[in-house]
Amino acid sequence: MDWKDALPEIVTQPGSRLQFREPLAKHTHFGIGGEATAYIEVSTVSELAALARFHKQWDIPVAVIGRGSNLLVSDRGFKGISIRLVSELAKLEVDGNIVSVGAGLALPALSKTMSQRGLSGVEFALGIPGSVGGALIMNAGAWGSSFGDVVTNVTVMTDTGELVNLTHAEAKFEYRHSSLDTYFCVTGATLTLEPGDVDTITARMQTLFKQKVETQPFVEENAGCMFKNPPGDSAGRLIDISGLKGYRIGGAEVSTIHGNFILNIDNATAEDVLKLVAHIQQQVREKTGISLQTEVKRLGFD
Ligand SMILES: Cc1cc2nc3c(=O)[nH]c(=O)nc-3n(C[C@H](O)[C@H](O)[C@H](O)COP(=O)(O)OP(=O)(O)OC[C@H]3O[C@@H](n4cnc5c(N)ncnc54)[C@H](O)[C@@H]3O)c2cc1C
Repeated sequence: MDWKDALPEIVTQPGSRLQFREPLAKHTHFGIGGEATAYIEVSTVSELAALARFHKQWDIPVAVIGRGSNLLVSDRGFKGISIRLVSELAKLEVDGNIVSVGAGLALPALSKTMSQRGLSGVEFALGIPGSVGGALIMNAGAWGSSFGDVVTNVTVMTDTGELVNLTHAEAKFEYRHSSLDTYFCVTGATLTLEPGDVDTITARMQTLFKQKVETQPFVEENAGCMFKNPPGDSAGRLIDISGLKGYRIGGAEVSTIHGNFILNIDNATAEDVLKLVAHIQQQVREKTGISLQTEVKRLGFD
């Protein structure tokens, strides 16, 4: 029996959805990428556990995708199952200042709801179009705050379908990095937020959002910052002084607003983006001696 024939027996929960040959461009902010062999929106923990065991039993690659806002998918697509967490896996529960949040929830929704509840700590996240899972994996952040700062515990699933509760220390949050990508899937987290005044928190959230919209491109498709900031410097500044703003390869262009953003301005391919990335790295190294490391994750290039 082929694994593709066996898969529909696993995806049975109401609210879940299985699609073969799904274009992943539809699920990334870059709007780039070929098809996944199978794409599943998973709505329950038990179904996710069944998928973990399926992946192990059939030895099929699985990639969990959040909102695809930090992801470049190959033009050849992904030969495996891509999973997105919805419903039970995107739930939010608030008990005083302790918040339990599913990995599938969108960060801007979390940020808005917390401000309405008078809870401070995730105001910076309104302008980050990712999911909680992606923010945990990446330790997403802005304006001096990082998601890991408010995380007390993280729940992950192993490839035998078991849930494991990790402490903040075990998640090993660093600048745009954590240790969580060694597990099958991140399913959620517990956050400890600071009680405060609704109006003050909302005003701070809106100010940070406004600053972001004014200094970063928000119209064209992109994947956020392409490169990590080197210690004590900014990748955007280095790209700018290397004269690369507006530089274009195929349909991919370095933003003229913020040099660390690569835009898909005209049906860019993943190959266009990677050629542009290599050109930027080479030019910045030549002009400044600094090697830029990419922040955006890649899928389907193996
Ligand atoms: C306009 C724009 C602005 C941005 N601004 C910022 C910013 O200010 N600060 C910042 O840090 N980032 C920023 N980003 C990048 C991005 O939004 C963050 O990195 C975000 O946390 C990624 O979340 P995601 O759900 O989109 O992850 P995805 O892009 O879907 O995935 C990223 C990685 O995480 C993995 N992953 C996702 N969810 C799970 C899960 N549940 N379990 C296991 N693995 C998982 C994926 O496999 C992939 O390797 C921006 C992006 C855009 C497009």
